[in-house]
This record gives sequence, C-alpha cells and structure tokens, in this order.
Amino acid sequence: MVGPSSEPHHIIVVGGGAGGLELVTRLGDKLGRRKLADVTLIDKSRTHLWKPLLHEVAAGSMDFAVHEIDYLAQAHWHGFRYRIGEMIGLDRQRREVQLAAYVDDEGREVTQQRSFRYDTLIIAVGSQGNDFGTPGVREHAISLDTPGQAKRFHSRLVNAYIRGHSQSAPLRPEQLQVAIIGAGATGTELAAELHYTTRELVAYGLDRIDPKDMQINLIEAAGQILPALPRRLADAALKLLTDLGVRVHTSSKVAEVTATGVKLATGVFIPAELVVWAAGVKAPDVLASLDGLESNRVNQLVVLPTLQTTRDENIFAFGDCAACPWEGHPGRQVPPRAQAAHQQAGHLVKQIRRRLAGQPPLPWRYRDFGSLVSLGDHSTVGNLMGGLVGGNLWIEGLFARFMYRSLYKMHEYALHGPTKVTLDTMARMITRRTEPHVKLH
Ligand SMILES: Cc1cc2nc3c(=O)[nH]c(=O)nc-3n(C[C@H](O)[C@H](O)[C@H](O)COP(=O)(O)OP(=O)(O)OC[C@H]3O[C@@H](n4cnc5c(N)ncnc54)[C@H](O)[C@@H]3O)c2cc1C
Repeated sequence: MVGPSSEPHHIIVVGGGAGGLELVTRLGDKLGRRKLADVTLIDKSRTHLWKPLLHEVAAGSMDFAVHEIDYLAQAHWHGFRYRIGEMIGLDRQRREVQLAAYVDDEGREVTQQRSFRYDTLIIAVGSQGNDFGTPGVREHAISLDTPGQAKRFHSRLVNAYIRGHSQSAPLRPEQLQVAIIGAGATGTELAAELHYTTRELVAYGLDRIDPKDMQINLIEAAGQILPALPRRLADAALKLLTDLGVRVHTSSKVAEVTATGVKLATGVFIPAELVVWAAGVKAPDVLASLDGLESNRVNQLVVLPTLQTTRDENIFAFGDCAACPWEGHPGRQVPPRAQAAHQQAGHLVKQIRRRLAGQPPLPWRYRDFGSLVSLGDHSTVGNLMGGLVGGNLWIEGLFARFMYRSLYKMHEYALHGPTKVTLDTMARMITRRTEPHVKLH
C-alpha cells in the first residue's frame, strides 16, 4: 500500500498490447494529464496492433497500416510517456526495470541499455508461440505472435502464388499447400480466412492456378478442433471448414516440421510449402527468472486475485503473461484472451487510483462472456454467456459476426473514445468499397 507523498508516483506499464495499452491510456487520461502520477509505457515495439487481428493480416484480408497505433502519438494525446525497449531484467530492491539496448533494422544502436525507476510496476508482456521443442518449427514454421510475423507469412503466401502461376514445370507436391498446426481459435480462424483470401488472390489475375491445387490442412493433436471451447461450437466450426474443403486432421501429433511439410507421429507426411505454428502459448522467457517473482511452467507470473504478484505487492501482472486464479473453477486459471485482458485493464485503473489514495486493491473476478469464432466471410459461430444474456445463448451468422467485432470496437473505444472510433469506422467502410478486399503485395 502507498501513502500520500509530495513526489509524483511513478507508474510503469511494461507491454502495450491488448491490455497494457488500454490501461496506460486510461491511467494517462485520469492521472498523467492531471499530474496526479507519472505514467510510463515501455514496449519493445514502436506500434500497436490488436493481436486478434493478426490472422487477418497474415491472410491478407486486413491492411495492417490502417489499424496500427503509434505509441508515441498515443502517449502524446493521452498524458503518458512512452519509452522503447525490451525488458530484460528487474531490480526489486532498487525498484528498477532494466531494458536492453534498442538496435535498429540495420544493427545500429538507437538507445543504450537503461533502467527506469518505479513505485508501481505493471507487467503485461503477453504471450508467444510455444513449440514444445518440436524439431524444425523454428526453422520452417511461422508463428503469429507479432505483426512482423503475420506480414512475413502474407508476403510468403503471395510469393508462393506468383511462383506457382509463373512456373512452366508442374507444381511440386508441397506447392500451394498450407499446413496450420494447432486448431485452437487462431488456427481455425486462419484456416477459414486463408480459404477465402487465396481464392481472391487467384481471381486477381493469377489465372493459371487451378483452385483445386490449393489445399489448406489444419492439424490438431487433440481429438477435436477448438479443444478448449464447447463441443457444439467445435462441431459447427468443423462442419463449416469441411464444407469449404479444408482438410482437418484431428488426433494428429506433429513430430517434425521440414522444408517441404509436416511429419506426424504416426509417420504420415503432409506436404506443405507454408507452415504456421499455432499450437499453444507461453509467456516470454524473461519472466521465468525475474528477480525472484513466482512463475509457472509456461513462464506466467503467478498473481493473487488482486492481480498483484505473489511475492511483491508493488508489482502487478495481467493479461496472457499472468497466471490468475479463476474463481469458481478450482485449480484453473483465467484463459489467455483479449476479453480477460480488457476486463483486467478496466479493474486496474480503479485499483491504481485506490492505491494512490492509500487504500488496498480489491480482487478482480473474470466474467466469461462466451466464445466466438470467426470463419472468414463465411460465418461466425459461438455462444454468449453469463450476465450479457442471462444464461448460455447459441448464436451464429450476422449477429455473431457483429458481436465478434464488438470486442475490437471496445478496445478501440478504450483507446480513442467514441468520436474517433465512429469516424474511423465510417472511413474504413468507404475505402473498403474502393480497394481490393485482399492485400496483393
Ligand atoms: C491470431 C490471434 C487471434 C486471437 N483471437 C482472439 C479472440 O478472438 N478473442 C480473444 O479474446 N482473444 C484472442 N486472441 C488472444 C489475444 O490476442 C490475447 O489474449 C491478448 O492479446 C493478450 O493481451 P496482452 O495485453 O496480455 O498481451 P499482448 O496483446 O500480446 O501484448 C503484449 C505486448 O507486450 C510487448 N512485449 C512483449 N515482451 C516484452 C518485453 N520483454 N519488453 C517490452 N515489451 C514487451 C509486446 O510488444 C506487446 O505489445 C488471439 C490471439 C491471436 C494471436
């Protein structure tokens, strides 16, 4: 707990993702602008893109540039400071976060290794793909953890299609074949989105490619796709995918990824020139040994229901990088989802204000509003739960698509307020009518 002091209280938020950027924006608006506290965001990137959009960037159905947010500008408009750098360590005794030197694309140092002092530290560094040590993943597969990776996948996809279109020799077995490993929400949504955009790509003049030659394989170790979601949702998504022609391989553990495809533990080989790894996540390695803070086997920082880390009341963690107990689900943690990060950010804004007033933080409780899976332009399916509808309601089609989009709208709303969100939405609707629906480069 902190008491009143004449020094400004230093709040540092590390990680400006789905949760961190909402938090720092609202803290900046409420505390930073009024000089009630000094609010700083640290992120290793210069810009923010809401992560659930990454599969659309990868498939080419979304233009990254239209949705990315510049941290410096956001900081300027919302009363906080932004400092670039990757957190590589922590000194809890001195209350300092340590950042690596920031080096540009050409290898030139932009900032030296440096440290920032905090009174309250909030860690929201998210998660990244966990390859569980599977051979060949690092060399031959792409994860969708960052906009850079999503753009790289999209560029490889377009190149693969141009290559296939322009070559005179017959296609090799792996050409125009995509393998997506992991049929959680990310993999499943990507499979449907890719089905749509690859056909659009070909329609834009790559007419020597026969759509029958393009194949998408979705590979899952569990017995069903979307294993963490209700069975009815998984069955509906499976039917939609198979109707589209996506080949779904369940109960199929991947043994190795090679330059020309995916080898299953059963010995079956699935040829593929593009492989996406979307099977499981872990928190960044730096959290595994962060000056004695408690972490679990996937590097998440263990937190109390107040979102304070178990060994330091001045350090909070939330979002994908935190292992937070899920009330009413003994032994389970809140799932790594944007809706959880959004709720936690809202809760923390209030708790930080209580802390500044010398009051103890209150516990947070996850409200699961259900799960929605977007299957490209074809359909959206899901269930809404809890307070939102007073029960468990199955939805699909246009209404489901609207609800799916509303999570992103809530994020935009938290960052920009109603006027900008309305104007941006209208502008995007207009430009969408005059531009290709798929990114062609
Ligand atoms: C393709 C895809 C689709 C998804 N779809 C959905 C969905 O439909 N619904 C849903 O609820 N969830 C979805 N998710 C999950 C959702 O994106 C995450 O749960 C959410 O982004 C977590 O937010 P976060 O703030 O914890 O972390 P993130 O949004 O991942 O942000 C982490 C931030 O920390 C920064 N960072 C990382 N390490 C460091 C470091 N060492 N130092 C400084 N900065 C660092 C990163 O640059 C990033 O800005 C999806 C995820 C993916 C990949």
